[in-house]
Amino acid sequence: MDCIFCKIINGEIPSEKVYEDDKVFAFMDINPLNDGHVLIIPKSHAGTIHEIGEDDFLAVMSATHKLAAAVRKALNPDGINLLQLNGKAANQVVPHLHVHIVPRWSGDGLTVSQWEIVAGNMEKVKNVAEQIKNSLK
Ligand code: 5GP
Ligand code: ZN
Repeated sequence: MDCIFCKIINGEIPSEKVYEDDKVFAFMDINPLNDGHVLIIPKSHAGTIHEIGEDDFLAVMSATHKLAAAVRKALNPDGINLLQLNGKAANQVVPHLHVHIVPRWSGDGLTVSQWEIVAGNMEKVKNVAEQIKNSLK
């Protein structure tokens, strides 16, 4: 398959690997937002959260938990953002599911997790909550 992250997993494209197990591969982002920017991916190709099975997703999240601790121990950041983008509308660029670990330092100037707080229309919030709850049934 013509997927750059699959090629990274099978070694066709080199990467700075930091972790691997039977289900998961993790490596340094080539365009780091900050030092310690790590990507965690499933070995079995899945484009987004909607294609990955629960087992593989949990394996990715479990490795993410382990790696967040290692990044903290290694770099002592003031905080960590976890990012996981699904679909072009959500700014996903590489269509192989991945979790970003982005270490953060106070005053680092990244705007990655900043948004303007605007009060919601509570009636609409309630209606959408009903739709979601009905969809869980
Ligand atoms: P997305 O916007 O899809 O969540 O982010 C894709 C990420 O993959 C970006 O942060 C980008 O820097 C990273 N990336 C893209 N191509 C490569 C590559 O060939 N090697 C590595 N290590 N990272 C890559
Ligand atoms: Zn892939």
